[in-house]
Amino acid sequence: MDYGMISKIEKAERYAEQRDRIRFVSFNVTFDGDNNPHTVTYENGQWSCDCSFFSSRGVCSHSMALERILAGMLPESVNTELR
Ligand SMILES: [Zn+2]
Repeated sequence: MDYGMISKIEKAERYAEQRDRIRFVSFNVTFDGDNNPHTVTYENGQWSCDCSFFSSRGVCSHSMALERILAGMLPESVNTELR
């Protein structure tokens, strides 16, 4: 492996420890719930999920789980549990 690649891998390892460098803007995921798979999307600070709990409450176990997984990489205002 050439030196250029080695230094990039070392930098990637440092970056991977620094979650505050990363801000998610949008994504969508398939989330395998206990009963059914759900589609969860995040767009411009707004969560959405196709489960019935989310449609009535605007938050659900799937969006809250993703908030925990992505802790430090979403804007603070997005924490739906505090609303
Ligand atoms: Zn959900």
